[in-house]
Amino acid sequence: MMQVVCQWCGHRYTMKRENVLQAVAEAQAAKAIHHVENCPKCRRAIKIQLADLKRWIPPGTKLPDVAKPEAKEE
Ligand SMILES: [Zn+2]
Repeated sequence: MMQVVCQWCGHRYTMKRENVLQAVAEAQAAKAIHHVENCPKCRRAIKIQLADLKRWIPPGTKLPDVAKPEAKEE
């Protein structure tokens, strides 16, 4: 579980591990550097750095599969 503090209203809440994994998988698929959460209290968007999310994931954890926004061969 990861502690998130809303930068707008100061509300603290925890993200479940599966939500953190999903957020990392989605951000990586989108090549984003942060994940956007909506505060459960004020509903405003909170940006969380991908690097911060990754710190909560043990090495070797398999990320869930997400639909990629575009299939691109590199
Ligand atoms: Zn808030």
